[in-house]
Amino acid sequence: MKLRPAPLLAALAAIALTQAPTRAETPAAYAPLTRPLDIQQVPGKPVYYSIGNPGVPGSANEGNTSNAGYVVTDDGVVVFDALGTPSLGFALLTDIRAHSDKPVRFVVASHYHADHIYGLQAFKDHSPAVIVAQDRATEYRDNDETQDERAAQRLDQRRGALYPWVNKDTRVVPPDITFDDRATLMVGGKRFSLIYAGPAHSGSDIMMMVEPDGVLFAGDIVQNSRIPFMNGDDVDTAQWLRALDTVLKLEPSYVIPGHGKPSAAAKEAITFTRDYITYVRAAMGKAVENWTDFDTAYRDTDWSKYKEFPAFDANNRGNAYRIYIELEGAQFKK
Ligand SMILES: [Zn+2]
Repeated sequence: MKLRPAPLLAALAAIALTQAPTRAETPAAYAPLTRPLDIQQVPGKPVYYSIGNPGVPGSANEGNTSNAGYVVTDDGVVVFDALGTPSLGFALLTDIRAHSDKPVRFVVASHYHADHIYGLQAFKDHSPAVIVAQDRATEYRDNDETQDERAAQRLDQRRGALYPWVNKDTRVVPPDITFDDRATLMVGGKRFSLIYAGPAHSGSDIMMMVEPDGVLFAGDIVQNSRIPFMNGDDVDTAQWLRALDTVLKLEPSYVIPGHGKPSAAAKEAITFTRDYITYVRAAMGKAVENWTDFDTAYRDTDWSKYKEFPAFDANNRGNAYRIYIELEGAQFKK
């Protein structure tokens, strides 16, 4: 386990503090949203979050499919994730400005997937925030054939599916600092523990525990009532299940997932994701053991339990295939 020395983060925070917060006025490059963010507050805590819509990013939801949130302290604001377009990121920044006149000190990226990071552009261009991610987030760049979501290919796709909110001016903003396993940010008397939980949903999954509030931002490790995307090269469902156990061990009083509704009961929050992963692993595991080919196994599996959930059509078959490959590989390693 490697702990990034605290002085580095403190120094960066000091740099961030010397810059004044920027006033919110919608920049011309960001297409206006017709649907406002749905911002809610964790009861009794200075913690706010935006709830995304179910389903896959498209013009009906304007790309607003993920959750993001922020914590207000006396010394500045710490943000977790930045939403799926620069327009949405700017709307989040505008909401922050309504709740605090302190600078945004850090934006922590749960992982580098388009639905969580295109909003980073707004924070980079209109706030002094330092962007923090796990080391493997740096693999997310143009024309890299190894990372789980090909950055350039995804940006092209979104410039079509999410025009005008994602357009030729939209760019992927890399992290300013990264860490390996754990990192701690201290801001305004609060402790923000960043915990590497991957590779699970992606190579760079991290969760953020906020103390003393006991609020856990779980990123896409936890996704409620939605079929998660698992069809990436870096998906590791065995590690994903371990990361869900970590959520329980942290004993949070409130869990904000990457998608879907937050919950005050950690056990309940992780149930959907854990049951789904376990179900697909069991079905595909049986097929691998019996040397059943994937198409037959997929056809013969009863999916009725999950068919009605958002993103089933987009994600389920790919997920099953990815798990089939993962389990096949694990068998050869035995
Ligand atoms: Zn996501």
